[in-house]
Amino acid sequence: MSGDERDQGATSGSGRDTLVYDQARWTADDERYEPLLSEKHTREVEVESELPEHLTRDTLDLPDLSEPELARHYTRLSEMNYGVENGPFPLGSCTMKYNPKFTEDAAAHPKAGIHPDRSPESAQGTLELLYRLQDYLARIGGMDAVTLQPPAGAAGEFAGILIARAYHEARGEDRTEVVVPDSAHGTNFASAAMAGYDVVELPGAADGRVDLGALEAAVGEETAALMLTNPNTLGLFERDIERIAEIVHDAGGLLYYDGANLNALLGRARPGDMGFDVMHYNVHKTFATPHGGGGPGAGPVGVREDLAEFLPDPRVRRTDGGYELYAPERSIGKVHGYQGNWLVLVKAYAYIARLGDEGLADASAKAVLNANYLAERIDYEIPFGPFHHEFVASADADAADVAKRMLDYGVHPPTTKWPEAVPEALMTEPTEVENRSSLDQLAAAFDAVAAEDEATVESAPERTAARRIDQVSAARNPRLSWQALDREE
Ligand SMILES: *Cc1c(COP(=O)(O)O)cnc(C)c1O
Repeated sequence: MSGDERDQGATSGSGRDTLVYDQARWTADDERYEPLLSEKHTREVEVESELPEHLTRDTLDLPDLSEPELARHYTRLSEMNYGVENGPFPLGSCTMKYNPKFTEDAAAHPKAGIHPDRSPESAQGTLELLYRLQDYLARIGGMDAVTLQPPAGAAGEFAGILIARAYHEARGEDRTEVVVPDSAHGTNFASAAMAGYDVVELPGAADGRVDLGALEAAVGEETAALMLTNPNTLGLFERDIERIAEIVHDAGGLLYYDGANLNALLGRARPGDMGFDVMHYNVHKTFATPHGGGGPGAGPVGVREDLAEFLPDPRVRRTDGGYELYAPERSIGKVHGYQGNWLVLVKAYAYIARLGDEGLADASAKAVLNANYLAERIDYEIPFGPFHHEFVASADADAADVAKRMLDYGVHPPTTKWPEAVPEALMTEPTEVENRSSLDQLAAAFDAVAAEDEATVESAPERTAARRIDQVSAARNPRLSWQALDREE
């Protein structure tokens, strides 16, 4: 929809554009307010209770609504947010692919709801699933052994770096530094620091990739590991990956693979074959589990053979008669309770098993094709390429404003202002699930915003339930109930 059409719509009727859909609002003085159930229609019921009289009421107003009213109320509430089931969600690096329902069915299977304290003998099917998933992931990543325990990519990074630390210590080496490219995700820096390392930031080359000269200068006998994602956060494949691995290995360091961008390589190339020694998988990105708002997810870690003895406890292995749990010999210990986020792992297993080798390779091909199609269609500068499953466009206006405005066009915006190598970055990852018409819808939204005047873009969004949210406070001081809000006020 163009801006002109919208304006025409707005002049019709009662001053409010009745043809354009708006999200509901939280505030009662707004005509789009979605009332609470008790505000819609109530019926007085008499209360009978054996509790002391001073603690009870005689009557109570309870909501009195038909099933369709109830269903529409909750649907309307669900639409006060934006998700992968509303439309395209090209949030770069996050791989927000649609989560197919068969994976939810698998996780909702009555037998999946198993107590974690069940004896291994009575939970053989569960252990078999975990064992098979360890094996699938090892094969997908070109790794020798996998733990499923870490509950997120960041937790996987932390576990992986602790494994690197244990490995060096077992060899009697006291290395103090982890090297991280400046374009890396913030969690890489944090994981290395939390594991007790000094972080050495590696500046990128002019082409957006690792600068080999800078790498040689940064790496030495203090280096415990280099953390890298490939393709990197600009969507660029590190063509010199074999040389990079050689430089790090020659210095005695390990090469860590941040698996957030694995969707670009799935079924086509493997980190293990590129020389990576340790990696995490963002199961909730690559293998379709709903995520956002902090979880739940899973960040399994894969390692090459001589690092397997350091993996978290417990792992699953096969015995003559079935499957059992065991503690690897020099395990770093536990990084989560039990087996990690079990139902997330069930979904990942279902997804991989259903797609198979061919399906996974097809997913990565389409993810790359979709990113390239979309980039071709939009009227934005894209400074770095050729890219794979995501690209980073540069906005003329403030990228955060552009993102907010895109919500008004019914699409979720890209990731903004990162990586910093691109001014006003819009990091865009459409994923393989979008078809041509939804990519065209996305492109139309990009271009419509680019053509709009500054004031409109700066004051967006107009049609959403919430407008400009203080994201830092929302993350650091969440108010999770009305009571909490009342208390503060
Ligand atoms: C998402 C992401 C992470 C962190 O993963 P979580 O599962 O969100 O903890 C790390 N690196 C990159 C590049 C990412 O996109």
